[in-house]
Amino acid sequence: MTERSTVRTRIAPSPTGFLHLGTARTALYSWAYARHHGGQFVLRIEDTDVARSTQESVEQILESMQWLGLAHDEGPIYQMQRLARYHAVVEQLIALGLAYRCYATPEELDAMREAQRARGEKTLYDRRWRPADASHPGKRLPEPPAGVQPVVRFANPVDGAVTWDDLVKGPITIRNEEIDDLIILRTDGVPTYNFAVVVDDMDMGITHVFRGDEHINNTPWQINLWHAIGGAGVQLPRFGHCPVILGDDGAKLSKRRGAVSVTAYKDAGYLPEGMLNYLARLGWSHGDDELFTLEQMVSWFDGSHLARSPAQWDPAKLAWVNAHHLKQASDERLAGLVREQLASRGVVAGDAALLSRAAALFKDRCSTTVELADWCEMLFVPVTPPEAELAAHVTDAVKPGLRALRDRLADEATPWDKPGLAAAMKAALAESGLKMPQLAPAVRVLVCGRSQTPSIDAVLALFPRDKVLAALQHV
Ligand code: GLU
Repeated sequence: MTERSTVRTRIAPSPTGFLHLGTARTALYSWAYARHHGGQFVLRIEDTDVARSTQESVEQILESMQWLGLAHDEGPIYQMQRLARYHAVVEQLIALGLAYRCYATPEELDAMREAQRARGEKTLYDRRWRPADASHPGKRLPEPPAGVQPVVRFANPVDGAVTWDDLVKGPITIRNEEIDDLIILRTDGVPTYNFAVVVDDMDMGITHVFRGDEHINNTPWQINLWHAIGGAGVQLPRFGHCPVILGDDGAKLSKRRGAVSVTAYKDAGYLPEGMLNYLARLGWSHGDDELFTLEQMVSWFDGSHLARSPAQWDPAKLAWVNAHHLKQASDERLAGLVREQLASRGVVAGDAALLSRAAALFKDRCSTTVELADWCEMLFVPVTPPEAELAAHVTDAVKPGLRALRDRLADEATPWDKPGLAAAMKAALAESGLKMPQLAPAVRVLVCGRSQTPSIDAVLALFPRDKVLAALQHV
């Protein structure tokens, strides 16, 4: 088999909830692999679980993918718009004797499984409606019962084994006797996942499939279907099954163990490049590199160095990675993100230039734009210093210094910039005989409502003169 020249990957989320972090990670791997090879990345919405799929979820998924910046070259393709194609393939398989209608009722199947359990056997479909073939030459089928809508089952090979060389796990072999004749079309005419996924991956020319390892047991069916539908010479994709992500308690990451949706992290103030950097490392490595750009990842991501064992979600590391990317981000961009955060709190931050200056000053102390907004908020709302902070820092001993500072700041001749404010502080210290560690926290508490901030002159410069004077008014 020759390698295909054009790499085509896909992500195929089911719109039954938010875009899960695990899916975001496989989307990233699929996207990066396609970009690395100059190929294409397809987005497919697997909406055949009609009862659980919602339009709201579709929109959440699209929004999450867009926010992450994992742009697709084709799609979104919706499986429910491809029913005619699936039906045509089902008919083709039936005509070839590779699929058949099964009229067994749920009650009959329950009884079958009950009996199998009683005999200590595996509960596999006993192929009662499978037509005669080489392994059962003389078999006679009963008459289809009237009024029973059949499902269609795939005539899975009865012996032999399915083997593939997994991009993540290495060679995997599963014997056909372990699996039964899969339902490919339900009574309502909707295909099942394992069938639709193969028709789609084949029609869409997918060359590499990255997905969660919960799909390993589906892969033998899919490979058998690839051969049945594609016939001799069909080129199968390479499969890469990534281990689950574990929560920090070692159990599978789940809603009960904290946020699992991409949008929750967006709302919590993480940057898409921080999320992607962190997600990338949860199952893949490039030497000792922990912090990298998406461009670097694309240049490195060649499908090697994918981890075989599960990674553990580590909120502290995510925060550390995000803090790095926050420092790299432009102040203007951060200002826009902080403005959104503040708006969600009902705080209007109109002055873009001021927000950019504030972002520049505070971003080194923050892991998220929510933390950055916590800092910037004081520039746009009235500040009420906490009583305990006032009592601790705005003491009688410090008040002369505060008054000296206030007088200098009230003087229009004091330039309202960092050097001018530094000079005013210095003069107030000299006049009062206080030390910086006494005066600065008191000023901070009165103006900012907290005793620790970046350098006091830089912080004061962010406020208008009248607001600072008002804060120092009653000392
Ligand atoms: N819809 C499947 C899922 O969300 C896709 C699995 C696959 O990539 O084949 O798990």
